[in-house]
Amino acid sequence: MKKILQDLSYAELVSLTAAAGEKPFRARQIFEGLMQGKKISALPVPASMRAALLAEYEDEPVTIKEVFTSKDGTRKFLFELADGNLIEGVVMQYQYGNTQCVSTQVGCRMGCKFCASTLGGRIRDLTAGEILSEVLAVNRFLGGSLKERQITNVVLMGSGEPFDNYENVVKFLRNLTAEGGICISARNVSLSTCGLVPAMKKFAGEGIPLNLTVSLHAVTDEERRRTMPIANKYSIAEILAACGEYFEKTGRRYIFEYSLIEGENADMPHAEALVALLKGRPCHVNLIRLNPVKERNLKGTDERTAQAFLKALLSRGISATLRRSMGSDIGGACGQLRASYLSKHSPD
Ligand code: SAH
Repeated sequence: MKKILQDLSYAELVSLTAAAGEKPFRARQIFEGLMQGKKISALPVPASMRAALLAEYEDEPVTIKEVFTSKDGTRKFLFELADGNLIEGVVMQYQYGNTQCVSTQVGCRMGCKFCASTLGGRIRDLTAGEILSEVLAVNRFLGGSLKERQITNVVLMGSGEPFDNYENVVKFLRNLTAEGGICISARNVSLSTCGLVPAMKKFAGEGIPLNLTVSLHAVTDEERRRTMPIANKYSIAEILAACGEYFEKTGRRYIFEYSLIEGENADMPHAEALVALLKGRPCHVNLIRLNPVKERNLKGTDERTAQAFLKALLSRGISATLRRSMGSDIGGACGQLRASYLSKHSPD
């Protein structure tokens, strides 16, 4: 595979063009063209420059292969990478704008029992420029430009564990939030982790004040181990301490994802245990009814149970919301689209 030009920051593009003996304004032209989602072959620079770039770099690292639109307006994208690997992303429409959910790896090796992304393990990490290109491609597809972006918020909640691909993800975040580019404020970015504690602590020192989100899904380590293998490595107490550090350093409150699974974590004793765990902490809880995954035998709760759980948290002073399960008619949950595409197109 060739290199990815979208990996480079503007400063790095300036050095690249200088080293090639080109005039400095070319770096700006290349950068702006790429940020508008253009292929190298469509950049507004001399043909000789495009040819020199194409000899080393992928023309288009991420192409949109299929788009599915849900009744609720949620759009699901199947992307193809230059090496033929497939990843997926979702765009959800809200009153304040459009939120894009991006993938950070092809597959995932965290092994959560309820998640389709992990079914085939991790194939490879995405580079910073590949992750960014998911956003650039969709912004362009939706008719957005750099001045009038169609994508206003980004969540790293697609396939992959962002902190299992730390360097690329941090570089992606720097390029995503940089002035002059697509320039999405860190405040409008959420990163979800299954709780890789050392990386969470390191990230607190990166100076990227985004919304740190941790997939909790359980109230004790013992229960968490049933659905999340990573719980064998890090305890909930260590996760809470790392979240505390994040708050100290960034002033940002943190968020817990809690998927309501029938017969597992959704009754009143669990709601009370969750309150006891989180009471007094500067955090928010995002509840969601588990999106059933065909390959797994776990079910989400019904709406009434979910509402009762929400009420139990709110009435005890825990900030919480129950997220609407969006795009479930188009395989909205992580990894479902890629998994179903791969099974339909597998050789047997
Ligand atoms: N690896 C990261 C981010 C990807 S998953 C993480 O673990 O946080 C984004 C969120 O969706 C996580 O909270 C994950 O636990 C949750 N999730 C995965 N499969 C789901 C499903 N079938 N239904 C509901 N939530 C799911």
